[in-house]
Amino acid sequence: MEGQLKIERREVLKEKPDFSRLGFGQYFTDHMLIIDYKEGKGWHDARIVPYAPITLDPAAMVFHYGQTVFEGLKAFKTTDNRVLLFRPEKNFARLNRSNDRLTIPQIDEEQVLEALKALISLEKDWIPTEPGTSLYIRPFIIATEPCLGVRASHEYKLMVILSPVGAYYAEGLEPVHINVESKYVRAVRGGTGAAKTAGNYASSIKAQVEAKESGYSQVLWLDGIEQRYIEEVGSMNVFFKIDGQVLTPELNGSILDGVTRDSIITLLKEWGIPVVERKLSIEELHEAYQNGTFEEAFGTGTAAVISPIGELNWLNHKMIINDGKIGELSQKLYDTITGIQTGKLADPFHWVVEVN
Ligand SMILES: *Cc1c(COP(=O)(O)O)cnc(C)c1O
Repeated sequence: MEGQLKIERREVLKEKPDFSRLGFGQYFTDHMLIIDYKEGKGWHDARIVPYAPITLDPAAMVFHYGQTVFEGLKAFKTTDNRVLLFRPEKNFARLNRSNDRLTIPQIDEEQVLEALKALISLEKDWIPTEPGTSLYIRPFIIATEPCLGVRASHEYKLMVILSPVGAYYAEGLEPVHINVESKYVRAVRGGTGAAKTAGNYASSIKAQVEAKESGYSQVLWLDGIEQRYIEEVGSMNVFFKIDGQVLTPELNGSILDGVTRDSIITLLKEWGIPVVERKLSIEELHEAYQNGTFEEAFGTGTAAVISPIGELNWLNHKMIINDGKIGELSQKLYDTITGIQTGKLADPFHWVVEVN
């Protein structure tokens, strides 16, 4: 990336929202980061500017063919007012893997992380401190060249916006009811399932709507070929505890490689709890349920960290997991990860990065 980071401060700062009623992704901070790309020139003109709408040509390629990628991570404020990021280098490495799949030029991961730190540093007062709250960070890249030809754009914008977010669960970790999706699929072998790209989410909303209509809060996705093997839950990775062993679907090209997923596998190994990444069919899960060996199930992702599953419905076979209550291991994983993220617990794996 060419040139220095320019900072244009907002003259009159916005009024902050009520930090006890934030919800998710509804408020945005005073400033944002923008970096432009043009073929032949590379990434250039990195700048922090007042948060505001942007103007794009209606022919900008992102609107027509969806050439875009995004990331999601969080910043936390410790009780002694330090600002911590959780494994941010993993997010920028993944952004580049998504870029590769969407034919978007690679970014300089270290320089973008440095620019992000400068932005967070400027917006420190926007980081809420109540338990469960954080500053959600949304980096994304859009194809901006005005052209209706189907090909890779020659121009892009990378932007980072920040949103103070509330506790994902108002009253403790509430187990959710999940429908096993047997009609729609999220991703297929060779597709874009492993990339964080908008199209994956656009095509998943219909299944979510139909699940809600039947009284479920999300869907469990099966593989796109045999519709048999478990992939993810909603937009989270998924784990099951069966007969003392923790199982999670192996990364197969259609599953998103979650930072939370990786952190959980690392913790389980450290604790000496057997954890296996492999193919896992819905029939096998149902069998374990009938045998009484199905102990816990939970989704994992940056937004909720751990989302316990209280009920799974598969073609009208209802599986009630751990009496519909959060499992002991799920709770321990949640407490450990959020403890490390907020500086309350030691950080033996050097996961947190301080922003000065
Ligand atoms: C972002 C995401 C996840 C979780 O990834 P984290 O890095 O843990 O936040 C899982 N599945 C999908 C489809 C995602 O988009």
